[in-house]
Amino acid sequence: MKKIYVTRLIPESAIAMLRERGYEVDVSSYDDVLTKDELKKELKKKEYDAVLCLLTDKIDADIFDVAPKAKIFANFAVGYNNVDVEAAKERGVTITNTPEVLTATVAEHTFALMMAIARRVVEADKFMRSGKFRNWEPFMLLGTDLTRKTLGILGAGRIGTRVAHHGRRGFEMKIIYYDVQRNEYLEKNYDAKYFATPEEVLKEADFVSVHVPLLPSTTHLINAKHLKLMKKTAYLINTSRGPVIDEAALVIALKEKWIAGAALDVFEHEPKLSPGLSELDNVIITPHIASATLATRVAMAELASKNIIEYLEGREPPNRIKF
Ligand code: NAD
Repeated sequence: MKKIYVTRLIPESAIAMLRERGYEVDVSSYDDVLTKDELKKELKKKEYDAVLCLLTDKIDADIFDVAPKAKIFANFAVGYNNVDVEAAKERGVTITNTPEVLTATVAEHTFALMMAIARRVVEADKFMRSGKFRNWEPFMLLGTDLTRKTLGILGAGRIGTRVAHHGRRGFEMKIIYYDVQRNEYLEKNYDAKYFATPEEVLKEADFVSVHVPLLPSTTHLINAKHLKLMKKTAYLINTSRGPVIDEAALVIALKEKWIAGAALDVFEHEPKLSPGLSELDNVIITPHIASATLATRVAMAELASKNIIEYLEGREPPNRIKF
């Protein structure tokens, strides 16, 4: 009987899919992020054939080596920067992720953040709750329009394209983008303009939304120098991965008003925040919830299970990471 280890409680239907195939499934009973030692201890308990892991699990050579029979690690996320792909490659381990099923949900959260920071929704809510609202006032809590502004996309893949769709179709925004490869679909369907460097996008955009994967080439893709290039009236939105932005530099930029504001779902030292970030009014922060709707989390979990099933039954898993 094939044995599968799941590093945290995930939607039940995904576990049921595995059990229905006759596999023995062990789910971590911790209901918290496992430390490396805890995960190693768990994986040593049985000879597991597959592991379903989360973006909070650091999967590296040590982990692969304590579970030598597990030749597939199915990540419950589209981003797989938590996995050492070189170590996986050396050991012939297949890594899969969960693309597409979360694209619309993440794009919606990106827009929720963009609208909330531009229209000061969180500040306004705090204002109301603290009993400060006396009357309608001509200059109270003035925000910024999105309509017909310029939306800069950094990383125009699945999620970046969907965000551009909302910007163009919903708010008649002008779309500009930077990516390592051109996206003809985006250019054709949303009149998007391509720039070969992030600097050009940062200079021109009123809203910059980041959608690159976390790689050595995208770490601190936005640094102090880049923040200085942005318009003073511009907003920065990040629903990709925290280390893509130099967060300490961002705190200074927000304090010194180099830019108008930022809205972040991901953080450089997650779950910790850079000192000073949470004290600022011109930033909105959410706890890495861009894909957090029940329907999407179920779809992600089921896709991770599907990848395991296909692999264990000798078929090509639909979302194998190519390396
Ligand atoms: P994708 O692979 O479809 O798109 C990524 C795009 O970035 C691609 O077009 C790629 O060419 C581009 N890119 C890669 N390296 C680049 C570089 N150095 N400079 C510029 N562009 C570069 O991925 P996706 O499905 O759109 O997801 C994007 C990222 O969003 C994921 O990798 C993940 O880290 C993040 N994400 C976060 C959440 C969340 O909960 N906040 C949820 C889902 C995804």
